[in-house]
Amino acid sequence: MKTQADVIVIGAGPGGSAAARYLASEGFDVIALEKAHYPREKVCGDGLTPRAVKELQLIGLPTPREEGWIPNHGLRMVGGGHRLEFPWHDLDA
Ligand SMILES: Cc1cc2nc3c(=O)[nH]c(=O)nc-3n(C[C@H](O)[C@H](O)[C@H](O)COP(=O)(O)OP(=O)(O)OC[C@H]3O[C@@H](n4cnc5c(N)ncnc54)[C@H](O)[C@@H]3O)c2cc1C
Repeated sequence: MKTQADVIVIGAGPGGSAAARYLASEGFDVIALEKAHYPREKVCGDGLTPRAVKELQLIGLPTPREEGWIPNHGLRMVGGGHRLEFPWHDLDA
């Protein structure tokens, strides 16, 4: 097993994985260590904001509909007899 690198990233969730990917694309030798087995067991709303989706695309991860990605247009909160909807802002870049 490889034990030396320019950078060792501990934890390969979205943050660590993205950091490792950017460092590797800049030519650094990177090891990303993750203690969990993939796919990670994770409670999550499974919704990403437009900026998060854009980050995925910037690091080269496509989000095609045929693979189950469903575009969403905002955030809806329901509770206590109220229902609030917040459409996402248009992003220029
Ligand atoms: C209930 C819930 C629902 C959520 N829903 C959404 C949502 O719908 N949309 C959204 O965008 N965000 C959602 N989030 C937030 C999102 O999960 C976090 O913003 C995101 O996971 C943070 O990424 P991260 O890489 O910083 O940390 P994490 O995802 O926590 O990744 C850290 C990783 O480090 C690993 N690790 C820790 N210590 C070590 C170690 N010593 N050695 C090796 N590996 C280690 C862990 O196993 C983990 O995989 C939700 C969060 C929660 C709690």
